[in-house]
Amino acid sequence: MSQSTYDYDLFVIGAGSGGVRAARMSASHGAKVAVAEEHRVGGTCVIRGCVPKKLFVYASQFSEHFEDSVGFGWTVPQEPVFDWKTLIANKDKEIDRLNGIYIRNLNNSGVEIIDDRAVLKDQHTVHLVNENRDVTAKNILIAVGAWPNLPSIPGIEHAISSNEAFDLEELPKRVVVVGGGYIAVEFAGIFNGLGVETTLMYRGPLILRGFDQDLRRNLQEEIVKKGMNLRLESDIAAIEKQADGTLLLTLKGGETVTTDAVMYATGRLPNTASLGLETVGIETKANGAIPVDVYSKTSVDNIYAVGDVTDRANLTPIAIREGAAFAETVFNNTPMAVDHSNIPTAVFSQPEIGTVGLTEEQACEQVGANDVAIYKSTFRPMMNTLSGNEERTTMKIVVHESTDKVLGVHILGPHSGELIQAVGIAVTMGATKAQFDATVAVHPTAAEELVTMKEKYIPPAE
Ligand code: NDP
Repeated sequence: MSQSTYDYDLFVIGAGSGGVRAARMSASHGAKVAVAEEHRVGGTCVIRGCVPKKLFVYASQFSEHFEDSVGFGWTVPQEPVFDWKTLIANKDKEIDRLNGIYIRNLNNSGVEIIDDRAVLKDQHTVHLVNENRDVTAKNILIAVGAWPNLPSIPGIEHAISSNEAFDLEELPKRVVVVGGGYIAVEFAGIFNGLGVETTLMYRGPLILRGFDQDLRRNLQEEIVKKGMNLRLESDIAAIEKQADGTLLLTLKGGETVTTDAVMYATGRLPNTASLGLETVGIETKANGAIPVDVYSKTSVDNIYAVGDVTDRANLTPIAIREGAAFAETVFNNTPMAVDHSNIPTAVFSQPEIGTVGLTEEQACEQVGANDVAIYKSTFRPMMNTLSGNEERTTMKIVVHESTDKVLGVHILGPHSGELIQAVGIAVTMGATKAQFDATVAVHPTAAEELVTMKEKYIPPAE
C-alpha cells in the first residue's frame, strides 16, 4: 500500500483487544501501521480484566471443591490454607507471558509499537506526549477502552476498583463490593470463595439489571446460600478511614458498617478525557463515548473508533470483531458491519451465568406476551447429590410461539459459560424449539435438560 505523504497508513491509539486486532489485520492487508499504548500491550482484558479475573475465579472455587469432595469419600487431611501472594505472583507471571505474546504478534505483523500516550492534534496528526513529537497518519483508530467510574462521595479515595483488586498487598478479612453488574457480582464471588467476609451492596432490588429475571432472582438465592451477605437497596453516602485502619461506611439511610476494604464496581466510562477529540471536532455522548456508524467511523471521515470507547456492547470479543471489521472495511475494500444482536455472554458469578438472545421480558416486549412460550427447569446437578452442596441449576428457553424459533437461552449453573457458546450457534442460526427437541440428549449431563424440556411453563395462578 502506498504510504503517500503520511508517516503511517494507520495510527492506532490503544493496544487492547480491539486495537491490536485492527492493527495486525490492517498490516496484513499491506498497511503501514503504528500503535501507541500508554500502559501495557494487551489492554483491560489481558492485564486487568477478563484473564486475571477468570484465574481468580478458579482460585476461589477450590474452597467449595474441597468441601464437595468429602461426600465422594475424600478426606482433606487438614484445613486447606490459601496464600494470596502465591496467586498474585502466578497471575502476574501469566499476564507477563500473554503480554509478551501480544507484543511478539504485533512485531511479527510488522506493526510498530510506541510506548507512549497519544493524543489527537488534528485530523491526520497525533502527538506523542512523553516523546514530545508529532506523527501523521492517513487513518486514525481510537481504541482506548474504558476506565472504572467511582461516584464522588466523601472518602471515595479510600475505595478501590477492580484495577487495584488485582494487586492488593493483602487479602482483606472483610470487604464490601458496591454495584450489581458483571464486575461486582464476579468479584464478590471471588472474595467470598477465598474466605473473605463479603458483602455485595446494590442500590436496586435485584442484581444484574438487564439479565433474565429468573436468573437474577435465583443467583441472589444461590449467593446467599454460599454465605455472602447481600444488601439490596443500599448505598454508601460516605467512607471514613479510622485510626485502626478499618473503614467506616455511612449508608444513605444513616446506618454504619465497618469493613476492611470497599471495592466499587459501579460501571466504566469511555477513556476519552484529554484525548484531543475537540481539536478534530468529534463530540462525545454524555458519558464520554464516541459515536460511530456501523463501520465504526466517527463524524470525521478518516477517524474510526472500536471497543468500549464507543459503548456499544462492552465485551472483548465484540471489540475484536469491530477491530477486524474496521480493517476489512478500510484496508481490504470489504465494508463490514458487526452484528450486535444475539451476543452470547457469560457472567463468572458463582454459580456462573450463560446467556444468549432475548430475556423473557424483552421477548414479551418485542413479540407480545401472548406469543412467547417459556420452558424452564430448576434442578440439583448430579455432582451435588453426593456432595450435599445445596446449589441448584436453572435453565430457561424463551420461544416465539407462532414461529417456534428460540429467541433466548439463559442458564445459571456450573460451566454455563462453556455451554452457552455452543447454544449460541443454534440461536444465531435461528433454530426452532422442535430442532432443540430433535437433538439427542447427552446423558448424564446438565445440558441434556436443554433438549428435553417438553412442558411449557405456566405461571401459578395469583
Ligand atoms: P455495569 O454497568 O454492568 O454495572 C454497574 C453497576 O453499578 C450496576 O449495578 C449499577 O446499578 C451500579 N451503579 C452505577 N452507578 C452507581 C452509583 N453511583 N452508586 C451505586 N451503584 C451504582 O458495570 P460493571 O462495572 O460491572 O462492568 C462494566 C462492563 O464491563 C459491563 O458492561 C460488561 O460489559 C463488561 N464486563 C464483562 C464481563 C464479562 O463478560 N463476564 C466481566 C466484567 C465486565 P443499576 O443497575 O441500578 O444501574
